[in-house]
Amino acid sequence: MHETMLAQNIAAAIRSEADKQEGRPLTAKISCGFLSAVNDELLQEAFGFICKGTSLEGMKLYIEHRPMRGVCKKCSKEFNVELSNPKCAFCGSEDFELLPETPTILEEIEFETAKNNENKSR
Ligand SMILES: [Zn+2]
Repeated sequence: MHETMLAQNIAAAIRSEADKQEGRPLTAKISCGFLSAVNDELLQEAFGFICKGTSLEGMKLYIEHRPMRGVCKKCSKEFNVELSNPKCAFCGSEDFELLPETPTILEEIEFETAKNNENKSR
């Protein structure tokens, strides 16, 4: 369910961007936080289903997972938290706080260029 909603949001965001660009979107890259626990396959599937029969059909979706971030209470530095070894990457302190999760972000959309467009009808 989570993935379906997410895919709908992504498709809507891409569509509104595509309207502005007046081009056919080819690929989109999104990034999501570690704890979002997005299932890539389910998301791809949901996205493909939502885009079917629309101008977004055949688009490729790339999903990038962001590492968990923590901030050290000793040296105040931010670092990527390794689950297997949760401690500050700078001073080694285990006294740190997890930073709030980065929400799922639509990072970039690649549009069909005019050059690619020549052989295709719109
Ligand atoms: Zn530290």
